[in-house]
Amino acid sequence: MTELLSDAHAAALDAADPLRGFRDEFHLPLQAGMPLAYFVGNSLGLQPKGARAHVEQVLEKWATEAVEGHFTGEAQWMDYHALVRDGLARVVGAQPSEVVAMNSLTVNLHLLLVSFYRPTRERPAILLEAGSFPSDRYALESQVRFHGFDPATDLIEVEPDAEDGTVSLAAIERAISLHGPRLALVLWPGVQYRTGQAFDLKEIARLGHAAGAVVGFDLAHAVGNLPLQLHDADADFAVWCHYKYMNAGPGAVAGAFVHARHAHTNRPRFAGWWGHDPATRFAMGPQFLPTPGADGWQLSNPPILALAPLRASLALFERAGMHALRAKSERLTGYLQALIDAHLGPALQVLTPRDPAQRGCQLSLRVRGGRARGRALFEHLAARGVLGDWREPDVIRIAPVPLYNTFADVLRFARAVREWAHAS
Ligand SMILES: *Cc1c(COP(=O)(O)O)cnc(C)c1O
Repeated sequence: MTELLSDAHAAALDAADPLRGFRDEFHLPLQAGMPLAYFVGNSLGLQPKGARAHVEQVLEKWATEAVEGHFTGEAQWMDYHALVRDGLARVVGAQPSEVVAMNSLTVNLHLLLVSFYRPTRERPAILLEAGSFPSDRYALESQVRFHGFDPATDLIEVEPDAEDGTVSLAAIERAISLHGPRLALVLWPGVQYRTGQAFDLKEIARLGHAAGAVVGFDLAHAVGNLPLQLHDADADFAVWCHYKYMNAGPGAVAGAFVHARHAHTNRPRFAGWWGHDPATRFAMGPQFLPTPGADGWQLSNPPILALAPLRASLALFERAGMHALRAKSERLTGYLQALIDAHLGPALQVLTPRDPAQRGCQLSLRVRGGRARGRALFEHLAARGVLGDWREPDVIRIAPVPLYNTFADVLRFARAVREWAHAS
């Protein structure tokens, strides 16, 4: 039991980790000269060292070529977004034409709702999870109102059915069958941001479609965390951001997926010139001819500087491979779980499902004894260079990220909690 808590044990796990070299590819924030045990890659991923060169390349091109930069070199701005397409498609398990990097997450959600939330009097409702990320709920509620419907009846929220705040597939299935005939849309997260619960996307898409609804996913906490098979999961659309597990920097350009079956859709959409077929975009004609596939939802020429770091990050995902990352992630989070089980149970309750198939890397930990104790532990950890994040009223989220966290980081967390539990 105490073996788990030894430096030698953590060091052996790190030495046996085939991905250990990737930590050196990131800038690690320091505290008192020592790298933080950084467990908030679910909030803002660390900076890949390669990001700077990509940003500087853009600045240099701008300085030396100005407008010509749109049309010169391998990284010409005209189709800069295409540089990340194949890498993104592999990370989310999609065909290249099904994905696009554009805008930010909530903007993409609205743009895709314009096309994929088409409420009618008979089918006005959206099914979502209770306790969804506020931005998603605000977006959905405003869309319901925008179409002249009433969120009180037409936003249907599925409540957690377990004491730890998780939602069973059976509860989702019950809600879909209960409300099926009224559902225009099911919008579900890949990984729940608060509990860390991962969902069976393929099954949710199947249930939603069987009820006659459109199905969309918010993958903010799933992309770069779990291997995804978006095409096969059969969602109609999905959205995500790139500043969490994708390490592309604060406010990085986000991502969107539109299933290939909608590549030539006649659904309405909000259009802009960057969604126009590039072959004739610069003819500047009055009529909008959408690019087939996800590209057709673009509005503007993208912010190149906010897209550049994603190239560095995707190169790392490419080299490491999602399946190897996931294998390490299960070991790393499994080690955290084992340490909690063996030594930290009196202080912490794990809210995230135990089954690795139902979680990504994050564990959500309720601090026993209420908010004040929770805050005290959180501050104790921060003072020791162990950074998680705080969710009211008493939850600390810890996300060991396989690209840059180590087993030694996880041990540091466990030791700091033990030290606090013994002293308090
Ligand atoms: C992080 C996150 C967001 C953030 O939205 P932005 O538009 O990127 O600011 C939205 N939804 C979910 C579920 C998130 O986890």
